[in-house]
Amino acid sequence: MTQIQFKDFLYAELDWFKARGRCISFWWRDDDCIRVTTALRRLLHIQERHSTPLALAVVPYAFHQETIEQQSKLIDCLRQHKGVNVFGHGFSHRPTVMEQTSLTQINRLGRVVEPVKAEFGSLCELATGLQMIAQGFEIMRGSFNGLFMPVFVPPWNRLDPKFWRSMSKCGYKALSSYAFTKKFSPEQVQTHLDIIHWRGDKEFCGYDALIHQLGLQFARRRAGSDEPIGILSHHLVQDDRGFEFLDFFIECCHHHCAANFPQLDVLFQLNPTAPAN
Ligand SMILES: [Zn+2]
Repeated sequence: MTQIQFKDFLYAELDWFKARGRCISFWWRDDDCIRVTTALRRLLHIQERHSTPLALAVVPYAFHQETIEQQSKLIDCLRQHKGVNVFGHGFSHRPTVMEQTSLTQINRLGRVVEPVKAEFGSLCELATGLQMIAQGFEIMRGSFNGLFMPVFVPPWNRLDPKFWRSMSKCGYKALSSYAFTKKFSPEQVQTHLDIIHWRGDKEFCGYDALIHQLGLQFARRRAGSDEPIGILSHHLVQDDRGFEFLDFFIECCHHHCAANFPQLDVLFQLNPTAPAN
C-alpha cells in the first residue's frame, strides 16, 4: 500500500460523507511529553505548519523532576504554538509494582497472557491512586497556566473504572484513552488510530494497518456515530515514517471539505486554565 493509495482510500471515504452532507471530525493526541527534545520540536513543526489543534499528554511527576530551566523551556516553547494544550498523563508513568511483576499466565485457550502495564489498574489501591492523580493535577495546574486542560490520559491507556468514578475529586473533568466507547460524550474523547506497531520494532505501523483501523472507524460513523476520530502519536518513539504520516494525513484532511479538526476546548467542552495576569 502506497501513500497515494492511502489518500485515494481516505478521499473515497470522505466523499461518501460529503455526498450526504456530513463531516468527519478528527483530533490529535501525542503522549509522554516531559521536556523539549528534537522530536518534540519536529512534532510542533507539523502542528504549526497546519495550525492543527494538538493535545500533548505530559507526565506530571516526570516533568516536575526536571530542572526549573527545563520546565520553563517546555512551557515557553508550548506557549509559542497556538492550538497546543496539555493534558495530565498519569502521575509518574510507572506501572504499579504488583502489576509490573505479575506472573505470566496461560488463558483458557492455552495462550500466554503477558502481564499488562498500568499505573492505575485494578491492583493499584484506590486511596493511594487518587492521591497520586490529585498530586499530578496540581503539578499540571500550577505549571501550565493557560495551557492545561483538565483531561486525564491514563498511561498505557488503561484505567480501572474505580478511579474514573472518583476522578472529579482530583480535579479532572474528562478522560481520554484509546479505542471507542459505547456512546460518545465530551467527558471521554478517545483516540483510535495508533501509528506505531508496538509489538514489533516500534516502527510506523504502515498504511495497510492504518486503512484497517480507519476503515473500522468510518464504518462506525456511517452507522450514525458522530464520535471524532482520534490520532495517537508518540513523538519520542515514532520513526521518520511516523512523522511523515502525520504531516501527510493532516494535509490530506485539510484539503477535503468533509474533514475538520475542531478546537480542543470545543471537543471537550472545557476551558484551559486561566492565563496568569
Ligand atoms: Zn504514555
